[in-house]
Amino acid sequence: MKRLGTAAFLLFAVGWNGLAASDDDGLRRLVGAYPDQFEATEKANVLRWKDGTETVYDDGVARSSLDEMMKQGSPKDQMSLPYPCGWPMREPGTDEDPGRVRCEALFRKMYGNSAAEVERSLVDVAWPAAGASKKVRFTRVNGAASALQRVGEEVNALPDDLRRYVAKPIGTFTWRTIAGEDRPSPHSFGMAIDFQLPTPVHRYWRWDAKGGKDVPAFPPEILDDARLGRIMAVFERHGFICGGKWRHYDTMHFEYRPELAGPQK
Ligand SMILES: [Zn+2]
Repeated sequence: MKRLGTAAFLLFAVGWNGLAASDDDGLRRLVGAYPDQFEATEKANVLRWKDGTETVYDDGVARSSLDEMMKQGSPKDQMSLPYPCGWPMREPGTDEDPGRVRCEALFRKMYGNSAAEVERSLVDVAWPAAGASKKVRFTRVNGAASALQRVGEEVNALPDDLRRYVAKPIGTFTWRTIAGEDRPSPHSFGMAIDFQLPTPVHRYWRWDAKGGKDVPAFPPEILDDARLGRIMAVFERHGFICGGKWRHYDTMHFEYRPELAGPQK
């Protein structure tokens, strides 16, 4: 019985971290993570929006590469890679970029289909780690601004050697495409924030690739920086993913994705 109990606990833990997410689990996580957007439905394979419209979860197209999924991913593709919360982190495998696949239609419908539409939902969030009066603009859609505010309070209470990691926010909302791609950056939707990190871990794979297409070796500085790990863990607890955990690393980037990180509903 004791062994069975341990096995059952492990299964629960695996599910909690999303390491063994089935397709149905991905659909359930999306609905649970965005309660302002979706409602339960008896129909299979459907995301039902509160405005009565529906989006097919699995469009049946088998996309074999990360590039294909990033260009035309379905909601199922978006949920295809579990995000590894916590620290220490292991080196991500080839194309292991959990969260970089985004079903563009979902984000445009939730956050806004134009700069003006997104801007209507932006609010000022205090960021005390950067100074008593510092504020950053973030979307209030899906509770993102409230989640960022909770992160800000928590990291501001950390010792100085940790707080300095987030003392220089360098950008939230910009309506733009991703460098080297023609799809919108998550910054377009007002639910992502970048920080100027300490130099050894302020890393973006395209900078290290120096114009080439090959992804450089994963920087050991990221794997070794337990302080960065503490910061990432705070963000993750509140539903943010961190680009420092992507094989195509982008350490300064933190993005509100409650379907992949944070308490699961
Ligand atoms: Zn970013």
